Formats: sequence, structure tokens, C-alpha cells
Amino acid sequence: MNDRQLLDHHAISPKKSLGQNFLHDPHTLEKIVASAALAPGATVLEIGPGTGNLTHLLAQRAARVIAVEVDDRLIPLLTERFADQAHVEIVHADILAVDIAALVERAPYSVVANLPYYITSAILRVLLEAPHKPERLVITVQREVAERLVATPGAMSLLAVSVQFYGQPQIVARLNAGVFWPRPDVESAVVRIDVYRTPPVAVPDEQLFFRVVRAGFGQKRKQLRNALSAGLHIDKERTADLLGSAGIDPQRRAETLSLEEWAALTRAAAGAGL
Ligand code: SAM
Repeated sequence: MNDRQLLDHHAISPKKSLGQNFLHDPHTLEKIVASAALAPGATVLEIGPGTGNLTHLLAQRAARVIAVEVDDRLIPLLTERFADQAHVEIVHADILAVDIAALVERAPYSVVANLPYYITSAILRVLLEAPHKPERLVITVQREVAERLVATPGAMSLLAVSVQFYGQPQIVARLNAGVFWPRPDVESAVVRIDVYRTPPVAVPDEQLFFRVVRAGFGQKRKQLRNALSAGLHIDKERTADLLGSAGIDPQRRAETLSLEEWAALTRAAAGAGL
């Protein structure tokens, strides 16, 4: 049965509000699972299994698959489909509300998922900021988001800095809308993020790092001296000192800074007692 027949059989119609575009192309599904390079004992967290197409392949490669689906209508279908596979757990929950560390029993884990696009950033934040982070993520996201994740200085954003602080993102495939049913309005891409054990730049305090970065990006297209002064609530003179001790031209804009420059700015801010 294909997705449409399976859903018809269960009298379910896809919900746009839950980002329900089901990936049916076998070649793409295979590519996603291969990109995860799962070791034989791997634990995988899947977010939004939908009708279970990706789950089915993951179950062949991982020792344990935990699939978290929010749509109660899909739970009986999924439970039935994986009834004879004890290593596949279907969890009925909102991924933004569950205790993920408890769910994976604090084991090392990877995330493999065709994400519901409406909560991509929130999911990335929850996974990457958690004390118990995944080792790797292979996720399908909107193509424009994928390009933003892998951006380099000149086109950085708060999202790019935040993700690159925790891991190395790489686009592994660009997908056209036709591989999904129903066809989404946007194009997609598969991104693999290899999560660092420790951040790639030295900062005295992660919270301060993100305070500085958020302040820098707080005022779109403003020069850093203005954005930081407003965002950190410090006067222009103090802001100029900070930028000076980090070796950053105050006229530059947030999108041009590298991760190392944000770290230097954070160290300067810590030194200035911020
Ligand atoms: N994995 C399936 C596939 O590849 O065909 C479905 C992917 S579909 C793009 C996104 C899935 O995420 C849907 O099944 C949707 O119901 C589910 N979803 C949406 N919001 C969710 C949430 N907050 N927590 C868990 N699952 C969610």
C-alpha cells in the first residue's frame, strides 16, 4: 500500500498544520538512512514518523528506534505496522514537550527525521541546547533553511551561528517537491549535522556567548556598534572598547562575523564584566 492508500484505509487525510508531507521516494529514503551511518548498536530518535516509511528503514539498521509522533490519528497505524518489531517504540507525544534524555535512557543517540517544517528552529534548539545532545542529526528541512544552516561569514544569521556552535552542518541532498505526498509548496534538502563533543571555539560562558550573538543580530543590517550597544544596554564608548579589544571593526555587521570572532567578542565582554 502506498501512503495515500494507507491513510485512506485508516480514513485519515494529511494535515497541513502538522507539516504532513510524506516522503515516499525509496531512493531518497535510502539516502537519508545511509547518511546517518548508523553503527549496529545505534539508538535512533525519529521525530514525526508519519506513516512509518523512514521508520521501516531505520528499524533495519538500528538496535533501537524511538519514533515520536504527535498526531493521535497515526498512532494505531504505526503501532500496527511495527507490532512485530520490539525494538521500535512508537511514542505519542509532542517532541517539544517530551524529556528526550529520559526517552533514550541517556544512551548515545542520533536523530533521523523528515521534520515538520513549522517547528524546525524550535526542534534544533531543543536538541542542540540540551545537556544530553544527539551525536548526529540527519534531517529534512526546507531548502532555504538548509542554505542558512551552512552559511559562511558574509551571510551568517542567528540560526547559523547557533547551529554551527554545536555542530558541523552539511547539505547531503537537495530534494524536489515531487518526492513528497502531498507535494509541499517549498523545496527541501537533507542536512547532516555532526555534533561536537565540545564547542569549536573557546568561550567562558555559553549564555554570555548567546547574549552577545543575539544582541548583534537584534537589529537587522545595523552596524555592530549600534546593535551591540542597544542589545547589551551599554553606551557607545563601552561598545567601541569591546569591539576594539576583540579586534573587530565597529562598522561591520553581524552577518559578516565568524564563530571565532563572536567568541573573541564574548571573551572581551566577560573581561569587561558583562
Ligand atoms: N516521517 C514521515 C515521512 O518521512 O514520510 C513524515 C514526515 S512529515 C514531514 C512530519 C511528521 O511530523 C508528521 O507525521 C507530523 O504529524 C509530525 N509532527 C508534527 N508536529 C510534531 C510534533 N510537535 N511532535 C512530533 N511529531 C510531529
